Amino acid sequence: MLAPPTSAEAADTVSHAAPAVPAADALLDSLMRLAARYFGVDAACVMPGAPDERWIGAGIDVPLRDALDELRRAIDARDTSEPLVVTDTLAARALVGDLLPTASTLPFRFAAVWPLRAPDGQTVGSLCLLGREPRELTAEDRASLDDFARVAAALAAKPAIDATQRAEAAELRARERLLSLAIAGSGTGVWDRNVVTGEIHYSSGWKAMLGYADDEVSDRIEDSYVRLHPDDVAYVKATMHAHFEGLTPNYEVEHRIRCKDGSYKWICSRGKVVSRDEAGNALRMIGTSTDVTSMRAMSETLRETVSLITSLTNEVPGLVFQCRLRPDGHSFFSYASAGIAEIYELTPDQVATSSACIDALIHPDDFEVYRASLQTSAERLSPWHLEYRVQLPQQGLRWRQGDAKPQRLADGSTLWHGFITDATERKRIEAELHEFATIDSLTRLPNRRHFMAQLEARLASLRRNGAPASAVMMCDLDHFKSINDHWGHAVGDQALRHFADVLRSHLRADDVAGRIGGEEFAVLLGSVDLEGALAVAQRIRLQIAGHPLVIDDDHIRLTVSIGVTEITGVDADAGAALSRSDLALYRAKKNGRNRIESQ
Ligand code: GH3
Ligand code: MG
Ligand code: MG
Repeated sequence: MLAPPTSAEAADTVSHAAPAVPAADALLDSLMRLAARYFGVDAACVMPGAPDERWIGAGIDVPLRDALDELRRAIDARDTSEPLVVTDTLAARALVGDLLPTASTLPFRFAAVWPLRAPDGQTVGSLCLLGREPRELTAEDRASLDDFARVAAALAAKPAIDATQRAEAAELRARERLLSLAIAGSGTGVWDRNVVTGEIHYSSGWKAMLGYADDEVSDRIEDSYVRLHPDDVAYVKATMHAHFEGLTPNYEVEHRIRCKDGSYKWICSRGKVVSRDEAGNALRMIGTSTDVTSMRAMSETLRETVSLITSLTNEVPGLVFQCRLRPDGHSFFSYASAGIAEIYELTPDQVATSSACIDALIHPDDFEVYRASLQTSAERLSPWHLEYRVQLPQQGLRWRQGDAKPQRLADGSTLWHGFITDATERKRIEAELHEFATIDSLTRLPNRRHFMAQLEARLASLRRNGAPASAVMMCDLDHFKSINDHWGHAVGDQALRHFADVLRSHLRADDVAGRIGGEEFAVLLGSVDLEGALAVAQRIRLQIAGHPLVIDDDHIRLTVSIGVTEITGVDADAGAALSRSDLALYRAKKNGRNRIESQ
C-alpha cells in the first residue's frame, strides 16, 4: 500500500487534488519528497488546516489519505499546535488507543505530525511523516522537522497570497472591461487636455461618436473650437473659463459639435481640472462627452406634446382635471387646466396640494350629495356625474356639471380624469322649459297637466299612508263670458289674474291651486276634511265677491261658484276626484251661482 514516492506519482497526486498546479505547490511537493528521503520514511505530506484545502504530499495515495484523514480527525479533537509523534502505533497502542481508535488498521506504524505556523503564529496545517516501520525521532530529527515545517509553512502560505492577488487582478480586469463597455455603450467619449500646451487627446470612442477615424482628429484645442457650433462657442468658452478660475466645482455644458459628415450632434460635456499649479492655474483637465442628440429630440417632442395637451385642455371651455383621493381621505388636483379660473375662481396651484378650497365653494345644500357622489364613484369605480351649485366670490350662485372616470392606483388611491363645465345657462333654460310645461303663463298657477300630476301624487300618498285627509275644490267664475263681452278680453284676463291672486292668498303649504280651463280653477287642499274644505271655499267665495277688480274708476264685480269633494285613497284616479267636484260645481251653478256645493 505504501510505495516509495516517485516524482511522477507525487505529481499525479497533486494534480488529482488540484488540476492546475501553482508553482508554490510544486515546490512544496519537492520539499515533501526531500523530507521523505531525509527522514527515511515512506511518505511525507502537508495536511491542510481546513478540510476543503489542498493536500500536498509525496507517496500519498487515496487509501493513505483516508487513513490520514482519520488521524487528522483524531488530532483535530486535540491540540494541533504541538508536535505529535507516534513511534509505533502497535506498540504504543495502549498509549494512543483513544487517539487512534483504529490504529491497528492504519497502513503505517510510525507517524510524526508537525504544526505549520503562519507568520502570525496561527497553525495553518501540519507536516506529516509516515512510515511502515516503527521509528524513533532524535533531537536532531526534531530540529530538522522544525526547519522543514518552517519552510513548508512559508511555501503553503504563498499560493494563498498568489491566489488572492490573481483574484484581485482578474476582478480589476473585469471591472475595467465593464467600465469601457459602459462608456462605449452610453455613447460617451473621453478626453484629456493639457491646459498649458493646448494638447487634447480624445478616446477612439469619442472620435467614433462623431464619425471620425482615429487619425482624423487633431490633438489641438484650437481645432476643437472649430468643430463647435458657432452659436455655442462663446457659452462653452465662458463655462470652461469659469471652471478654470475655480468658480465652479465641475465643467458641464451642452453644445453642438460638427461631425465628419458636416451634421451637428448635441453633446453633453462634463469635466474637471485634475491638477493645478501652486498659483491655482489649471494644468490638466479630463472629461467625457456624451451624445445627447436623441435625448434632446425626445425631450423636445415631449415638450411639444405637453404643450399641445396643455393648450388643448386650456382651450376647452370648462375645467379639465385629474383629481386624486388618497386612502386616508386627502384629495388634491394633480392637474387642473386654466379653466379652473372660470369654474371655481381659483388657480391650479391652489388645488395642487388640497381640494379643500373647492369644498368650501360648493353650495351648502348640495355639499352632502357632492361628497357622497364622489365617495360612491371611488368605492364602485363608477363614472362620476353630478350637477351641483357653487357659490363663487365674483360670479355668485352658479350651476356646475362634473363628469369623470375613476381609476384605482396601486397605493389604493382613486384618480379621476374628467371635466367640469358651466351648467348655469342650461339649468336656466331647463327651468324655463319646466315652467313652460307646468305653469300657466297668464295666472302663474300650475296648468291642468301639472295640477293633475300633483293630485295623482296626493292620491298615491293617501293610498300609502291613509291620512291626512284632503279635499278638492272646483271653482268657476260666474257669467265670465259677459265680462269679456262688456269689458273686453284684456280685462277678462286681468279678472282671471285677480281671481288667481285671491286663490293664492288662501293657500297653505300643502295646498295646490291650478288653472285647469278658461275660467275654471281647481284647488287641492291638504290636511282638511270636508267641513274644513267648505270653510276655505266660503272664505274664497266671500273674498272675491267682496273685492271687485278695479280698473281705473271702474269696479268690476266677480263671483264664483265652487264644488267641493273630499278625496280618499279609494278614488280610482285624479280624474274621478275631479269629476265629483265638477258635479258639485254643476249643482252650485244650477242652484243660482255665487255659492258652494259639496259632493
Ligand atoms: P257660467 O256662469 O255658466 O260659468 O257662465 P260663463 O259665461 O262664465 O261660462 P262660459 O263657459 O259660457 O264662458 C266662459 C268664457 O270664458 C268663454 C271664454 O271666452 C272665456 N275665456 C276662456 N278663457 C279665457 C281667457 O284666457 N281669457 C279671457 N279673457 N277669457 C277667457
Ligand atoms: Mg266655465
Ligand atoms: Mg263660468
